Amino acid sequence: MGMTDHPERNKVADAVHAIQERMQAACRRSGRDPAQVRLLAVSKQQPADRVQAAVAAGHRFFGENRVQEARDKMALVSGDGVQWHLIGPLQRNKARLAASLFQMIHSVDSLALAQQLSACRSVDGATPPSPLPVLMQVNIGLEPQKQGVAPEEAPALARAMAALPGIALRGLMAIPPQTATAAAARPYFRALAALARKIEGQNIPDLSMQELSMGMSHDFEIAIEEGATWVRVGSALFGER
Ligand SMILES: *Cc1c(COP(=O)(O)O)cnc(C)c1O
Repeated sequence: MGMTDHPERNKVADAVHAIQERMQAACRRSGRDPAQVRLLAVSKQQPADRVQAAVAAGHRFFGENRVQEARDKMALVSGDGVQWHLIGPLQRNKARLAASLFQMIHSVDSLALAQQLSACRSVDGATPPSPLPVLMQVNIGLEPQKQGVAPEEAPALARAMAALPGIALRGLMAIPPQTATAAAARPYFRALAALARKIEGQNIPDLSMQELSMGMSHDFEIAIEEGATWVRVGSALFGER
């Protein structure tokens, strides 16, 4: 694409590397293996050429919060092994499209939605596709306006989701309440990690709680210290939206 030495490309590459260095430092501080923590570059409201610049810099994982916008952008971005994850609310009537576009859905917050995704992935065709990895979104701060299941409902929903064909529940996701400092978010991250361990302890068949999607631009280092396996970073990478 003739993008060599393009200033925009260099800027995005520098930002990706800077975030990765901060992630590695957080892993060192907390005794975690850096290979267990991945950066999901949140590309919502960012133009496709900026995403392509991140791909050119070697980045592969992108997060979008709207199905249509993601579909349009995917058509403009190319690269081997590029993965798109849905991190925003999903309406049931877009479940089929989402199930065909995304490699992981972080925002499953009801049994009805999980059943819809399951049905999309499991019916037609003789050889079923590999199950779609999904995360359960938990409203960890019990905020009335926020998506996600209440923590006390999460174990029962996990059990029901694990029994569905076509999807594979892999862990939990949360957007904690806005806090004045990043450190103030720590108890919420800790609570999500504890909830995952509690669900894991119930020995539900076909269920793994290996993934914790938590931490954004202002608090991803704290989230890593508390066990995040995916941090979702937008503005600190691509600039303000
Ligand atoms: C926008 C968004 C992010 C990224 O937020 P930044 O503060 O820009 O890093 C992360 N997670 C979700 C669910 C989002 O909608």
